[in-house]
Amino acid sequence: MKRIACCVAAGTLALFCTAGLAACGKGGSGRDLYTIRAAYRAEDKTLTAEMEAEIKNPLPMSTDELKFQLWPNAFREGAKYAPVSKIFENAAYYNGKSYGGIDVSAVEGAESFSVGGEDENILTVKLKETLDAGESVELSFRFEVKLAEINHRLGVSECGVNLSGFYPVLCAVESGQFAEHVYSSNGDPFVSEIADFDVTLTLPESYTLVSGFAAEEVKENAPSGGVKAYHVCEEGVREVAFVFGEGFECVQDTAGEKEVFYYYPAADKDPARTLKLAAESLAFFGDTFGEDIYPRYTVVMTGFAYGGMEFPALSMISSDLREEELPAVVAHETAHQWWYAMVGSDQYNSAWQDEGLAELSSALFLDAYPDYGSSYRDLVTASEQAYRAFFSVHSQVHKEADTTMIRPLTAYSGDYEYRSIAYDKGLILFDRIREVMGERKFLGALKDYFKEYCGKIASAEDLVACFERRSGGIEDLFASFLEGRCII
Ligand SMILES: [Zn+2]
Repeated sequence: MKRIACCVAAGTLALFCTAGLAACGKGGSGRDLYTIRAAYRAEDKTLTAEMEAEIKNPLPMSTDELKFQLWPNAFREGAKYAPVSKIFENAAYYNGKSYGGIDVSAVEGAESFSVGGEDENILTVKLKETLDAGESVELSFRFEVKLAEINHRLGVSECGVNLSGFYPVLCAVESGQFAEHVYSSNGDPFVSEIADFDVTLTLPESYTLVSGFAAEEVKENAPSGGVKAYHVCEEGVREVAFVFGEGFECVQDTAGEKEVFYYYPAADKDPARTLKLAAESLAFFGDTFGEDIYPRYTVVMTGFAYGGMEFPALSMISSDLREEELPAVVAHETAHQWWYAMVGSDQYNSAWQDEGLAELSSALFLDAYPDYGSSYRDLVTASEQAYRAFFSVHSQVHKEADTTMIRPLTAYSGDYEYRSIAYDKGLILFDRIREVMGERKFLGALKDYFKEYCGKIASAEDLVACFERRSGGIEDLFASFLEGRCII
């Protein structure tokens, strides 16, 4: 593999010259720190990167290896767990089938490394010395990511480059071990603890960079040769994601003290409406659940086969959305700032937790803003109808419909079942809890949940306990939904 030295030539190699930039994550936060320097070449749709990582052993015991998720490998030819299901293939692969992947060429500071797991999804790094629980190690990774032409979270989309999950991501810890998750075309298979990120991205100079936190153009030792470099410091986030490309325009507003941005391709004829939705929903959720902790919020319209996708301080929404779909999608993705970005959960095994809450939050927002055309009751009724239709079809086809809500993403038969359980049944569950507890206690429990688990990963039990504390016995109602015993 190509190995890159510092400052040998302008352009692609200049990505490591970041002298003079204010480093972030050095304030003794106690969080892991990832310093990523990456350059994107449009000619071959490839990102060349170096990542220095200061990682604490998150396991409850000593270890001589660390494990990382390699999400880009889900996009490679022959992946066992494809990133999109058959029904979304046409919308995703707009130019016919296209493939990507990640090639890790070096891990310095380690004894050795290997790529394996069930679907080439895991990078195992063998350490030089055993690391005690809580002890840190410094590693330096070099890798290249080839992007597929795909309207997805990672890929060259029809509007711009969507860049997420592009670096080795430390595996989450489950039952005292590193959890090795495969990709799933259902839901979001990503679980990660918050960390600090110091990212320098070198892009073609004609590109606009869209990021969750503010990006600054690198002026000192700036690269030349038709490229520009940007520096972004994101502290206390679960991941970093970007969108970049040509032709993006931007409008800006505020929600309270917070700046809100909306980036869009020129084809969007009503950017003011989406910006207003983003600002109003951000302010509404802040008032309802607790103030968000990020310095700003950005929504970007890009090529994306599904409605939208959430990242810390950033939401992608699909350029294919119909006008009437926008309010629910923007509100849903913005709600994920609370239920995913700030309060993390196990999205792999307990998808209802953040999806159900995002649906519920969106319904509360749209009810408070009737001009967008949906009431809370309309939305719950629509989910009830959709869920009952799913139940009836699955009961007939499979003799019995599996309605349990805690199961891995790979245990869903497809998009339809996943949507019906995580979104529809998730919303119905929270609606029933709200009905039994009453509005005041219900919102009180959600505020407790936000306050207690902001910056952490909450288990399903942690969530239920917040409601149980406000309303004794409510855990039985949760259990009847989660275990698939209740009749809807
Ligand atoms: Zn969602």
